[in-house]
Amino acid sequence: MTESAPATPHTWRPDRFMVIVAHPDDADFGPAATAARWIDEGSQGWLVCCTSGDAGADDWRTDPLELAALREREQRAAADVIGYAGVTFLHQPDGALANDLALREQLVRELRTFRPDAVLAVDPETLFHADGGVNHADHRAAGMAAVDAVYPAARNAMAFPWLARDGLEPWTVRRLYLCWSNHPTAWVDVTATLERKLAALRAHASQIREPESLEARIREWAREEGEPIGVEAAEALRVIVIEDDEDEGPTHAHEPQTEGAKGA
Ligand SMILES: [Zn+2]
Repeated sequence: MTESAPATPHTWRPDRFMVIVAHPDDADFGPAATAARWIDEGSQGWLVCCTSGDAGADDWRTDPLELAALREREQRAAADVIGYAGVTFLHQPDGALANDLALREQLVRELRTFRPDAVLAVDPETLFHADGGVNHADHRAAGMAAVDAVYPAARNAMAFPWLARDGLEPWTVRRLYLCWSNHPTAWVDVTATLERKLAALRAHASQIREPESLEARIREWAREEGEPIGVEAAEALRVIVIEDDEDEGPTHAHEPQTEGAKGA
């Protein structure tokens, strides 16, 4: 993080964004404070969970359908804390998520329906976390599925042509924001919304054994990620610019020039 030009707080904000993740709670461990900040500033956000987390228990006797229903309720409560306009569950199997054409079609349907300017997802290139541990296969699959749905499928009129025939016209997503990346390029100051992220995480009661230590860990991560830009708390993201700002339509005319996320 120190070898390139000094980082500056990231200021580009999408009017509409979609968060695409594998499990209920991923979005809240991930870019929740960025989502909350953007929503506070006027963005509309939508959350898509590919699975309902039906394998997220330690006891093999757990009923997966009951667990899925519980986790959907937890995620909807957390989404209300962040302020999403809505949540979609795609009901893919937890622990067996595959970046296949069926999932891609589901995601293209979501993208063409909500029409986001930016998509937030887990960086699919993160196999191992820089600070230790393996990035869950579902996280990688959901991240890659999000990338593949954004480009080229959502914008390609010939991809899943029955969607266009149903009125879901091709849609161009301008940017990808990837969390849990080992190669962050943008730091969003979330000093004002870190508490909302923590509150959203508390809604996932079935998944959290030690709330106090989790909270301390999240605060520490946010503090570390704030260091490069000199703020109390930040979320570090890897930004992929798909459509340059020069082509911006009127919806983004008020946005200042971005601080060099592209080409980073
Ligand atoms: Zn997960």
